[in-house]
Amino acid sequence: AKRDGRSTYRFFEQSMDEELRDRAALEADLRKAIGEERLEPHYQPLVDMRDGHVYGFEVLARWNHPTRGWIRPDVFIPLAEQIGLISDLTWSLLRRACRDSRQWSDDIRLALNISPVQLKDPLLPNQILGILAEEGFAPTRLEIEVTETALVSDLKTAKAILSSLRSNGVRIALDDFGTGYSSLYHLRELKFDKVKIDRSFVQSMQTSSDSRKIVDAIVSLAKTLGLPTVAEGIEDKAVLDHLASIGCDFGQGFYLGRAMPAEAAVERLDPHDAG
Ligand code: C2E
Ligand code: CA
Ligand code: CA
Ligand code: CA
Repeated sequence: AKRDGRSTYRFFEQSMDEELRDRAALEADLRKAIGEERLEPHYQPLVDMRDGHVYGFEVLARWNHPTRGWIRPDVFIPLAEQIGLISDLTWSLLRRACRDSRQWSDDIRLALNISPVQLKDPLLPNQILGILAEEGFAPTRLEIEVTETALVSDLKTAKAILSSLRSNGVRIALDDFGTGYSSLYHLRELKFDKVKIDRSFVQSMQTSSDSRKIVDAIVSLAKTLGLPTVAEGIEDKAVLDHLASIGCDFGQGFYLGRAMPAEAAVERLDPHDAG
């Protein structure tokens, strides 16, 4: 038994070592990729539930690694945050998205994810507005998506940043609503333009009546507060129909379209919004 224990220990030691090396290599590759602006924006359609038209896209970062292939944002976003490069990544993505959007009509909006660590930086509004000005993209066409994690650590700074952006016309969406610790508190303390219902609730609406009740309650609460709702993670028609029937305003999900490169995204637009 003793020998078994020791070899198990050695096995762990070795694999931990490999894991660390692996991580260091990935980190170096990410540094390089961000430096060379090789991360790409992909675009997932945002749909107006009243008439089904695509009014905008959420910008989602994609990394095509030269040897490992596509790496998920769940992996490289936290890494970029840890090595202090999340802002570089975000700004390069925003610039590219503004340029891509020139092939769409002026009505099409972009929704950009802002990481919690970025909401600690009082210079954030100036950086965003500066890029928009340089790229000729109207602030009223941009929505930023923030999660509650961003608000808990320094509410005062986050509040100032968001209100400065809002006063310049940028809209703010509260992302992943329902998964945080004090969602209702944050709804009261800050001004949002939209509530984005977390996809974990929406995805399980078919199989769980509790999920359905929670989504119904979020939509009705948001209505009471005068806030539009977006449901993400719509994967089938039944869920879409239910959401439309309870008056959810906007939708996003694989059933309506996956994240795709700019050239493909243009195909999802109404003819008068494309080209
Ligand atoms: P998120 O902001 O909640 O983005 C929505 C995620 O849900 C995307 O995953 C999208 O592809 C996925 N999704 C949308 N509809 C469906 C559906 O019907 N079914 C399923 N199963 N999934 C659906 P993605 O692109 O893998 O991004 C994961 C997370 O990584 C994002 O979650 C966001 O937190 C983060 N992320 C992605 N791009 C960026 C970025 O540019 N900056 C920052 N800070 N975070 C980003
Ligand atoms: Ca988001
Ligand atoms: Ca989300
Ligand atoms: Ca998320």
